This record gives sequence, structure tokens and C-alpha cells, in this order.
Amino acid sequence: MTESTDQIPMAQPVIGAREEELVLEVLRSGQLSLGRKTVAFEEGLAARIGVPYGRAVSSGTAGLHLALRAVGVEAGDEVITSPLSFIASANSVLFERAIPTFVDIDPVTLNMDAAAVADAITPATKAILPVHIFGYPADTPAMERHGLPIVEDACEALGAIHGDGVPVGGRGHPAVFAFYANKQLATGEGGMVVTNDAAIAERIGSERNQGRAPDMGWLDHDRLGFNYRMSELQAALGVAQLERLDQMLADRAKVAGWYREALAELSAQTGLALPCEDRGTERRGWFVFVVQVPRGVDRDDVLRGLRAVGIDGKPYLPPIHLFSFYRELGYREGMFPVTEDIGGRSLALPFFPAMQQSQVARVAERLSELLLGN
Ligand SMILES: *Cc1c(COP(=O)(O)O)cnc(C)c1O
Repeated sequence: MTESTDQIPMAQPVIGAREEELVLEVLRSGQLSLGRKTVAFEEGLAARIGVPYGRAVSSGTAGLHLALRAVGVEAGDEVITSPLSFIASANSVLFERAIPTFVDIDPVTLNMDAAAVADAITPATKAILPVHIFGYPADTPAMERHGLPIVEDACEALGAIHGDGVPVGGRGHPAVFAFYANKQLATGEGGMVVTNDAAIAERIGSERNQGRAPDMGWLDHDRLGFNYRMSELQAALGVAQLERLDQMLADRAKVAGWYREALAELSAQTGLALPCEDRGTERRGWFVFVVQVPRGVDRDDVLRGLRAVGIDGKPYLPPIHLFSFYRELGYREGMFPVTEDIGGRSLALPFFPAMQQSQVARVAERLSELLLGN
């Protein structure tokens, strides 16, 4: 039996003196929203991704909503997207009363299958919404050939790089990052849309702020908008986190390497599937470490077995099309066999930059007990 029962959490942000310093600066400045920290965070992240514009928003979900509106998605339009994602990507399509058209995933990368995307295009298709799931770059270059607007859900993919060397989010389409506490860069809540399109940036900047144009006076509005603003406190965290991003990404990659090593033998013995290796020059931006239990093993039993010894784990991710209110749109079991197979066997293990090798070893040892039955 595994001896230690110290809790190992799923995720844990890296917060230090620099975050405290910059947040305190904001508190003392008296400017708690739409100030210099927001601009600094926007400029910093956009520069890092290699595009001219960044617009900070209150969440990744808010960013997806505004990005879809900005490329012209309206009621009744079809948006092609992945059923193996966090629900926010598909929900953001529903916010505009548009229709998420799901297509099945590639069994290796777990991203939307580019050929299935091509097959799903109809005259009603308004946009494609690829999700770079678990930080692995989706085949956006293949999807660009259709000439349709693309909005990228890069909420799990900060640090990922496409095969042609372009950072995920840097292709110019509006791409959305998220900064919830478990993401590669954490501001508590928050998101950002990056783009190379000035008009899209302008529209998003206005619609996040009640439809106000930057040069308009207070309470003057020329279009429908929302309150999707990020606060200066969050932006201060963003600026501090950006300074340590390379280290945090490197630490995540190091932990992933430990997991690979610790689970290699068990994987060969049992068929436990590990995250795919990077193909060619593609690079994953490590976000979560998701494994698939072998066929015939009950994933939820494994989760219970982990939790019994203080190791957190999550079913990750349940297919979106099988949630009850998506079934009301006509989706059923059997429509996306790869997604359903993988979604039913996937589980996310504890994974965060400060994770220790001994903790990884404990998780691997427990998994081994559970899968080998000893
Ligand atoms: C985190 C995440 C989002 C957005 O999350 P928020 O909690 O709204 O910031 C969207 N899509 C995916 C795939 C995500 O993982």
C-alpha cells in the first residue's frame, strides 16, 4: 500500500512576492479597473504571442463569446467545434443562438480531426472554433484552407507552438487565452483575446466595456456591449505571472517528463495511454497530464482509488454533446465514437509547476496498484 496520505491537489498556482508587490501597487494607486496594468498585461502577452493586439477580459468564456461576435457569428449560423473540450467553447456559440456543429477528434492528438472539419462545412457554416485541447496545437493551418473565419480556443495552450514555428494564438485569428487558477498563467479569473486585426480588437475592446468606444465619454454607447472587463488587480497578477511564465512552463514540462518516466512501464504492461508525444516540430504547452485507462477498466473506480489515498483526480473531459442540454439539440451517443471512447476513459492526474518528483512517484505507484490489482 501507498504509505503517505498527504493530499496531492489537482492544481496549484505559483504566487510569490512579485504578485503581492504589483497587486499592492494597484491597491495603493486608486485605479482598480481599466488602468495601466491592464494595458501592460495586454501588450506583454500580445508581444509574447507575436501579434499586435491583446484585449483582456473577465474570463476565457467571455473572450470566446466576444471573439465569435467579432467574426460575425449570429443566430442560426453553424460553428464547427470539438466535442472533447471544456463546455465553455461550445456554450459560447449558444450564447449567440448559433449552432455548435461537433466533429469527431483525432485519437492521437485529441484535437478536432481536420478532415472531419472539411466534411462538416455547409453553406450555413460561419466559423471554425478549434480547441487546442490539453495544450496540444490543433491543426489550424489545415482549417485555414477553407477561407472561413477561425476563432481559436487557446485557453489550455499558452506556450504551445505549431509545426511551422508560430506560437499557438499567433496566427492572427482571434485566439483566446484563460487565466483561471489552474491555467499556465493564473489571475484568479480572467482571459485575453489576441489578434492581428485592428477592427476586431476595437470591437472586443468596446463590447467588453458596455459598448463604449475608447474615445467616447462616460455613458455614451454606440453598440450593444457587456461588462466583461478584467480588473487592474487581476491584470497586476497577469503582469507578474508573465514575468515568470517561462519558468512555470519549463517546470510543467519537467513534471510531465517525470510522469512519462514513472508511468512508462505500467503503460506498456496495461495499455494505460499517456499524452501523445510532440509530433515533428509541434510543441505542447503543458496544461494537464491526462491519461486514458485501458479499455475494460472502470475509470471512476480508478478515481475513487486515487482519492482514497489523498490523490485528487478528475474525469477529464466528459464529451460535451452528451450533456443533457446538448442532447436537446439532437446529439446522441454513437455520433462521435472516438470522443466517446476517450472521454469515457480519460482522467487528469495532479499536475502543477511546484509538483515534486516524490509526489509524481506516489501517484504512479498508486495507479500501478489500482491497474495491476495488487
Ligand atoms: C479554461 C477553459 C476555457 C475558459 O475558461 P474560463 O473559466 O471562462 O476562463 C475555455 N475553454 C477551455 C478548453 C478551457 O480549458
